[in-house]
This record gives sequence, C-alpha cells and structure tokens, in this order.
Amino acid sequence: MEKISCSIAKDLMPLYMDGVLSAETTEVMKAHLESCGNCRKEYETMEQEWKLPSSVRLQEENKKMLKELKHQIKRKRILTGVVAVFLAAMVLVGGYLVYENIGVVHEYFSPSFEVSIRDIDTFGEWEKISVGEDGYLNFDSVFYKKEMVVHADSSDSIALRIMDREGNVILESEEILPGESIDLEKLHRNTDYQVEIKAKGEAVFLWFV
Ligand SMILES: [Zn+2]
Repeated sequence: MEKISCSIAKDLMPLYMDGVLSAETTEVMKAHLESCGNCRKEYETMEQEWKLPSSVRLQEENKKMLKELKHQIKRKRILTGVVAVFLAAMVLVGGYLVYENIGVVHEYFSPSFEVSIRDIDTFGEWEKISVGEDGYLNFDSVFYKKEMVVHADSSDSIALRIMDREGNVILESEEILPGESIDLEKLHRNTDYQVEIKAKGEAVFLWFV
C-alpha cells in the first residue's frame, strides 16, 4: 500500500469524513491516520466540528439567514422608495400635461361673448348692453380668462361699467381704447352681471373672454 504525505492526508480529510473516497484511498487514509498523531488529532477536531453540528454552528447559520433577510427587507424598502418617487413624478407629469391641455383647450376653444354694436351714440350716458343669451354677462366656465377686449377694429374708445343684479357697481373704467383689454378678475364665476357702456361711433366690437 502506498503511503501519503500529511498535506495530501489533510486535503483528503473532508472526503474521507464524508465517505466518498474509493476503497483503496480510504484504506490509505485510515493507515495514515493510525500512524500519524498530528493528522489524527486534526481529523478528530474536524469530525467534532462537522459531524456533530454544534449549537454554535446553528446559531451562525441563523445569523446568516437573519442577515440575508434584513438585507432583503432593506432592498424592498429601497425599491418601495424608488417606486414612490416614480409615482410622485408621474403625478407631477400627469398634472402638468392636464394643465398644458387646459392651456391648449383655452387657446383653441376659449369661450367668449362677442358683442358688436353699429352706429352708436349713447350721448354720454350709460347704456345697458346685452351680453350672452339672457342679456347678462356670466362667466360660467373655468375656461374664461375674465377679460374684456375692445377689438382693434372698433371706431373709438369706450367707457365700461359693470353692475351686479342688485345694481351695485363692481367695476368702472372711463376709457378703454380699441385694441385694449380690461381685467375682469373681480367678477365671480356663475354670477350675472349687467354691462353698460358709453360709446360713440360707427362700430364697437367687444369680446368678453
Ligand atoms: Zn500525517
């Protein structure tokens, strides 16, 4: 039977312990362990550590599993954070798109009341004009800019007065030139207003947008 060196014996120890060596090599190992005190000692230590799994080793494995689990939870948390940020970004982008589209809707489908009056002379007195279907100005949609434009084709400037249904003056402006506009932000939505003007000329074109 061939003899083996201590280093080869050490290499073979785990396989020997598992009983996976060939019969011949097993015999060689057995012989070496019987004759070599150092290797025998080492083998016995190894056997104690591996063949009888100590509670220490189990604890180690539990720790490892726990660590892995924590790692997974942490990864999940990071992922949740990333998803949350992504969703928030989507909401922002979505909101912006809606806003943009309202802008587009505004530009192309902006509602307006158009009033054109020919050959007018109010003789310096306030005269009621009819705006909208029932004669009253009513900004009944969010798409109104709430502005009045005296169209540039108008022949002269006008004076404007806006009153609520009770006759309270909400807004008064003495001279609005053709091409100019006046802010009607003060007016509430879904509220009827009586519009009066003072004007003189061939044509007055008013846009309530
Ligand atoms: Zn040896």
